[in-house]
Amino acid sequence: MAGGDETEADLSGGSQRRRPRHQPKHIGGRRLSPATLMMGHGYDPALSEGALKPPIFLTSTFVFESAAAGKRHFEQVTGKRAGAAEGLVYSRFNGPNQEILEDRLAIWEDAEEALTFSSGMAAIATLLLAYVKPGDVIVHSAPLYAATETLIGKILGRFGVTWLDFPAGATRAQIDAVLEQAKAQGRVSLIYLESPANPTNALVDVEAVVAARDAAFAESPPPIAIDNTFLGPMWAQPLRQGADIVVYSLTKYAGGHSDLVAGSAVGAKAMIDPIRAMRNTIGTITDPHTAWMLLRSLETLELRMTRASENAAKVCAYLRDHPKVEQVGYLGFLAEDSRQADIYRRHCTGAGSTFSLYLKGGEREAFAFLDALKIAKLAVSLGGTETLASAPAAMTHLSVPDDRKAALGITDNLVRISIGVEDAGDLVADMEQALAAV
Ligand SMILES: *Cc1c(COP(=O)(O)O)cnc(C)c1O
Repeated sequence: MAGGDETEADLSGGSQRRRPRHQPKHIGGRRLSPATLMMGHGYDPALSEGALKPPIFLTSTFVFESAAAGKRHFEQVTGKRAGAAEGLVYSRFNGPNQEILEDRLAIWEDAEEALTFSSGMAAIATLLLAYVKPGDVIVHSAPLYAATETLIGKILGRFGVTWLDFPAGATRAQIDAVLEQAKAQGRVSLIYLESPANPTNALVDVEAVVAARDAAFAESPPPIAIDNTFLGPMWAQPLRQGADIVVYSLTKYAGGHSDLVAGSAVGAKAMIDPIRAMRNTIGTITDPHTAWMLLRSLETLELRMTRASENAAKVCAYLRDHPKVEQVGYLGFLAEDSRQADIYRRHCTGAGSTFSLYLKGGEREAFAFLDALKIAKLAVSLGGTETLASAPAAMTHLSVPDDRKAALGITDNLVRISIGVEDAGDLVADMEQALAAV
């Protein structure tokens, strides 16, 4: 939990809260891997009657050890003193389940701090409110998740915030040009990225964005935030490329069972502190039950993402050669000498399991395929244990104007697929019989 010492249970100090005895992060010189630490890090059974698993702490408030301790905690939650409160205060600010979860989320990316939120959009909204004020300009990659685009363009627009974008695959020169234009428009307070972009799977060159930002802003450079929902934390860790804040919809791969909605933000303490202060004010923290569910999910994160990724490679290899298939937009199939492949090699360690399938034909063929699937479920969302398929042009992107849809490659024959952890042979058999029905 926050401020916990790694090896010692600190029961002294009067007004100090009892500190959990942490599982060590090293054995001898060996640094333990996230997969190992997910089973115990941040939780001390001795503080909970010896329960192997953390109880769900259903309480709205916490008893202070002393009046002085209560004052110190409030100095922290109100921002009078920087950082997380060292004690538990009130469930809009913190709680044991959320703190254990945050400690474990930070481990995957070797980050100083993580925060959890009631949804991916709650994480993104809290980040934006923390960093952006009227008159500011947000520079972002395009396309973005539709609700993020609405939030930046329509909702923050009502408060006098403007934006400029560059395409996800943009080169350093293109990014430089957009940053120059943005500086002329107002104070650039945030650079916001999404990679791979939804639904194109286009990768953003984070290293190029960082270099462009550093060249354009000698003083007070704007932070770079990135939505890493599709590949993280297993296959992409943008903090390593110099991003400052990584945001997630934990609803997808991290939760992984299509049974909860949550989000997170991860990064250095100095970057996370303003977001925490905003979360304390508006109350976008996740609830204890969802946090507990996510602790269970994280125990199998590596297993699930690895299996789903292996399955996707097999399914895509089958689909690519099928006569009724026009193209498979899968990160494992990038042309060797392309700029996208270069970004992939520098930024990613795996292709993930969400991809685009373009059938020969149009909506009729896409719908026939979707309606014939027997294992894959017809639903939006992604990253669950089960395989899901949908038609973006007719569903998630229905309201996108036609010219923009065309520019993004969101055509009527496009099927989006998120592969799960089923048997790969069974999934191929399902695709085979559904394609036969087209
Ligand atoms: C789903 C998703 C979100 C929004 O997350 P919620 O948990 O639904 O609020 C944001 N970004 C991406 C890339 C997503 O896939």
